[in-house]
Amino acid sequence: MPRLEFSQRVQRLPRYPAAGGYALPDDVALLASNESPYGPLPQVVEAAQRVLGGANRYPDPSNARLRRALADRTGVRSTRIAIGNGSCDVLLACGEALLEPGAELVYAWPSFSVYPHVAAASGATAITVPLDAAHRHDLEAMAREVTVATRMVIVCNPNNPTSTALPADEIAAFVADLPRHVVVVLDEAYIEFNILDDPDTTLDLLERHANVVILRTFSKIYGLAGLRVGYGLCGGEEMVQALDQVRQPFFCNVAAQAAAVEALRHQDAVADRVEQAVVARVEVESALAGLGIEPAESQANFVWFDLPDPAMEPDVVVGLRDRGVLVRAGTALGREGALRVTFGTPSENARFLDALRAVL
Ligand SMILES: *Cc1c(COP(=O)(O)O)cnc(C)c1O
Repeated sequence: MPRLEFSQRVQRLPRYPAAGGYALPDDVALLASNESPYGPLPQVVEAAQRVLGGANRYPDPSNARLRRALADRTGVRSTRIAIGNGSCDVLLACGEALLEPGAELVYAWPSFSVYPHVAAASGATAITVPLDAAHRHDLEAMAREVTVATRMVIVCNPNNPTSTALPADEIAAFVADLPRHVVVVLDEAYIEFNILDDPDTTLDLLERHANVVILRTFSKIYGLAGLRVGYGLCGGEEMVQALDQVRQPFFCNVAAQAAAVEALRHQDAVADRVEQAVVARVEVESALAGLGIEPAESQANFVWFDLPDPAMEPDVVVGLRDRGVLVRAGTALGREGALRVTFGTPSENARFLDALRAVL
């Protein structure tokens, strides 16, 4: 058999450590991917279904309705909004638009497992900065890594996989001190779950800094992970144009666009889901405390904690899986001996806690 000759780029690219479980029976508690345990609202499902009859036509490549709805919701001008096939699509496009060999990308670690891909895809150099002792971004240390070669800095707030958040004023001070040629990508996939600040506080940064991109998604609080739609709110139009240049024209399908527009109309449901997640957070954290486990301070829809002994990790993950609970092992996410567990429904959370008690 002849061997295929893949590009240097492909040889550099890491494989995304996807969670398992997609082919498991229905009664498994899927607490491995930080999705919403609740399906989309019936009105959102109907909106997606209504447009399927017109699926012989390409979707609107300008995503005009969705951008207008987001402009109404956020106050950011629609010309400064980039839609994506999930916010990861916008993130990867930022990398393509900004990075190349010789350029540098700075991000914290452990953080989102897609970030190593951003650097590898472009041949840029990734500079990773360890989190502080409380599993939070160390912004001072990150600022020290910025050089003339830096094109992009990513701040994941709240951070995946550690669930921690920084106050918005610390982020604002960090952004204000950066050279203006450096694009700051603020990945706010979990911002709605953060109760430290109003979730929209950071939008002010866009008024002052043309080099800021705020990434948000319909995959988490809105419960639309399966439809793939996210967006970037940009400090300037230049960035939106560059993001469109590097991508195929029809990146966001008709059902995703329609569902997202409808989902934005139901902010009361968003508030309910935030409340459910906060209740789950308090319950799971106090049950973990009862087991002598002290998780990182979560401002997200998941918890992150070290097991009593790092060597237990594989057995604990398998033990939980045998009891019908899927979680993420820390080793795949940058810290051996840790677990990341998404909050599910109250009964799924109880099942996780029972299983963990049994396994430990
Ligand atoms: C889940 C997640 C996203 C969202 O990805 P989509 O492509 O919008 O589904 C982005 N960033 C982080 C840190 C995440 O955990």
